[in-house]
This record gives sequence, structure tokens and C-alpha cells, in this order.
Amino acid sequence: MSEGTAISDASASRAASSSAPLAERYAEAMIPVFGTPQRVLVRGEGCRVWDDAGRAYLDLLGGIAVNALGHGHPALVDALAKQAPQLAHVSNFFATEPQIELAETLLSLAGAPQGSGVFFANSGTEANEAAFKLARRHGGAERPRILALENSFHGRTMGALALTSKAAYREPFAPLPGGVEFIPSGDTAALEAALAPRDVAAVVAEPIQGEAGVRPLDPAYLRALREATRDTGTLLILDEVQTGIGRTGSWFAHQGVEGVVPDAMTLAKGLGGGFPIGAMIAFGPEVRGLLTAGQHGTTFGGNPLGAAVALAVLGTIREDGLLEHVRTLGESFAARVLALGDPRITEVRGAGLLRGIGLAEPIAPQVAAAALEAGFIVNAPDPSTIRIAPPLVITDQELGSFADALPALLDAAAPAAAGAAAPVDPSAAPAADDKDPS
Ligand SMILES: *Cc1c(COP(=O)(O)O)cnc(C)c1O
Repeated sequence: MSEGTAISDASASRAASSSAPLAERYAEAMIPVFGTPQRVLVRGEGCRVWDDAGRAYLDLLGGIAVNALGHGHPALVDALAKQAPQLAHVSNFFATEPQIELAETLLSLAGAPQGSGVFFANSGTEANEAAFKLARRHGGAERPRILALENSFHGRTMGALALTSKAAYREPFAPLPGGVEFIPSGDTAALEAALAPRDVAAVVAEPIQGEAGVRPLDPAYLRALREATRDTGTLLILDEVQTGIGRTGSWFAHQGVEGVVPDAMTLAKGLGGGFPIGAMIAFGPEVRGLLTAGQHGTTFGGNPLGAAVALAVLGTIREDGLLEHVRTLGESFAARVLALGDPRITEVRGAGLLRGIGLAEPIAPQVAAAALEAGFIVNAPDPSTIRIAPPLVITDQELGSFADALPALLDAAAPAAAGAAAPVDPSAAPAADDKDPS
């Protein structure tokens, strides 16, 4: 059979299968790293999305802290519509104004000192790869070690994976880039002991560990991280891929902790509001100077289309006063959930609109499934946490509708346990996080 015939046979059979349910076609055509998708989505508007059966959902996850302005926001759509026909992509042999303006805006929002600089990437993991290389350049032969925190998540490419603590993510891909050690988060003595030999290039940390179940670092520990790294000539790299861009009610989460300015910070998720873009900011001329011409690169990173969209996201957050909105709504949501007085809810962690609802039993995957049935999109980053990271433009009423629904969702998730306090069989729970899409 000639090659041409094989190709037309293949496209004929694809055409024939196009009426098969989309879930089946997904299972046939995709590499199964994400497990089975819960729904096929076709449309979004504001904080709502619709599936292919026409059912509406309140999107309380925002594409995992990505859709900062929700779905179809006019500022984002206009930026795309205006920039796409003008100039969408050039290589990094050339500069464009949106890229320069975005770099300047990020440096200003970060309060970065004179001489700081930005590297643009296309995702969180790539921003962290840039930070890893920065750390290696700082470390050289004298500082071969890099510290990350237990329960960290920094991405799926090999360098970022080396910084990610979860064994199930790492072990199938060994050997990973070397020199990375994990220290228990919150343990200042362990931190100081690890840094004492002055052979550590960098400490990498998330201000709030999102994938670990929305677990904030103690502000005192974050300050200790800053002081101990400064005292020992070690870089402090903050991964704000999930916590940045207004998510916690300040532009970047570390700005909520006085006295903490990192040496480098990585961003992605909310930055493009759905358009893939990441960034690494190097604070001050010395750190910026660690990467010189030719030492790093990217084809797509910082293209004018992505930069124009990111500028629209940042401009809208500023003009619409969304930081204040996020702070107020985050507090009222947490208070409303706690005011339910439901013994099955133990706490509400996090800040702004990145929240983890702690459950007394490991039934979070069933609660997330019940929520979806009831028309709410949330997720279970660990077996006893429900995470919400909704669009920053969500209303108090929308958030409140989920808070009010929680007791019924808990009933639906564990009917045997409702009232009777029967033990929940954790083995019956679908896996919480092994196929987390991030
Ligand atoms: C999501 C995430 C990443 C990875 O970002 P991708 O865009 O999925 O590569 C890295 N760090 C943190 C803290 C994240 O939440």
C-alpha cells in the first residue's frame, strides 16, 4: 500500500468516527496522562462554562488559577483581536513594544530594583527551568546544592521536576538533574543547618504550596528563608506561578509578607489569563547578569500576541480594583464556609481567591465529583482538600452559592457518613491527585 493511500484511509476513518462520542474519541486519540476528562466543554462566559450537553457550570477553578478575568472577557478578547492582525509572532532576533512594555510593567508591579530584568517563557515549568539555570550559574563548582521544600510542585519538565518533591511524579523519570535536596517546610533549624556549609546555590519555594493542598508558608518562615539565604549568599527563588498576578489579593503573594523580596520570581498561570505565557524576574543587576547572551532562549517566549494579552490582564486587574476585590471576597468566602459550623469542614486555608477547604475525612475527590454534578467546578489536590481558584472577577453571590451548597455536597459525597458518622473507606475514593493536570 502506498503512503498516500494509508494517509487517506486514516483520514477517512477519522471522518467516520467524528460522530462517535467525544469521550471515546479522546480516549482513542490522546496519550492518557490526564486520565479520563470529566466533561467536554464547548463555551464559556464570565465565570460560567457549558459542556457539550448544554449544562452550565460555575467555574471555581479557573483552569487551575489561569482564567484571571474569567471566560471571554472583552479586554482579553480585544487585545487578541487588535494584536493578532498587527503582529502575532516574531523571533527573539527582534524586539516588539508589547514585550518591552510587559517587562517594564512586571518589574514595576514587583517593585524590582533598578537593573532587574525579565525572561519570558510559555509556561510555569519553563519559567522554573530558567530559574534552575540561574541557580546553576550562581552556584558554579562551589555551590552544587539546591534546596526545595517537601510537598513542593514546580512543574513537569526535567529541571522543574527535579525540584518537585512528589516521588510518583519523579521516580519514573530518573535520573533527574542532580544536587537537589528537600527540606521540611516551616523548620527554620533544618533550613539553617542545610545552608550553613555555604555550598547551596539557591532555595526554591512557593509562598503557598498550591498543588500540595493550598498550604501557605508561615510568614515567619518565609522571612527566615529570606534572611538565611541572604546571610549565606544563597539565592531565594520564589515560584509564584500559582500565587502571582493578584491571586492572593496582592500582585504577588510574597508582597503580603513584609521584608521579603526574592532574588528571582517565576510566573505563569494567571499572567496570560488563558494565553500561555510565563516569566522569570531576576531582581537586581547581579542576579540579572547571571544569564548572558546565548545562555538561554525560547522561540515563542515573549511574543507580541502573548505580551499584549498579558498587558490587558494586568491593566484590567489594576483598573477594576481587583486586588481589593480579591481580598474582600476571599475573606468573606472563608468566613461564610466556617460559619456553616459543619464538623466535616476543619479549616479554610490560603489567601485571597486561592483557597483550600480542609475536610475531616479523605472524601475530597467524591465531594469534587458531587460538586460537578451540582454544577460547580472545583478540584481535590489531596484526598482531604477541596481547592478553589476562581476567576478574580467572580462575584460574592457566585462564591456564596458554592459555600451554601457545601453541606449538601458533603452529604452527596459520603451518604453513609451523613449523620451516622460511619467511617469512610478511603480505598473507595478515586485517586485524588496522581493525574492532576498541572
Ligand atoms: C502549575 C504550577 C507550575 C507548572 O506550571 P505549568 O504551566 O503547568 O508548566 C509550577 N509551579 C507552580 C507553583 C504551579 O502551581
